Amino acid sequence: MITEDRYRAAIAQKDQAEATIGEYFRQKAANAEKRWQSFLIGNSPFTDADLVYSAGARCHCGAGLAYPKDCMPNHRWDCSDFLKGKAKDTAPLRHEILPFAFYSIISELQKERARNQTTRPQPQ
Ligand SMILES: [Zn+2]
Repeated sequence: MITEDRYRAAIAQKDQAEATIGEYFRQKAANAEKRWQSFLIGNSPFTDADLVYSAGARCHCGAGLAYPKDCMPNHRWDCSDFLKGKAKDTAPLRHEILPFAFYSIISELQKERARNQTTRPQPQ
């Protein structure tokens, strides 16, 4: 039989765990936002290791679409060459910008739907 004391201790433990989990995601989101702002002011292009690629969707320049890992659900798909600072034409509007809210694009992380396809460049 579980005592009232054990039950209350379990609740306290659960509340503490939820606070830790919440803080973990807040910090992760804050770091992702800081990283994004740093990219936007031109200080630090992303690398392939920083990005999640689309399974098959590409920018009209030919590069795969991608987004930074840990970004928020209100983020967007961008041209990976643009994110990596490798786009020949750097005007953002020359490359795809597709908000998650309006476009359903299969990512390489959705293994089954992606059928193991990715637009991630192969290591040379
Ligand atoms: Zn592009």
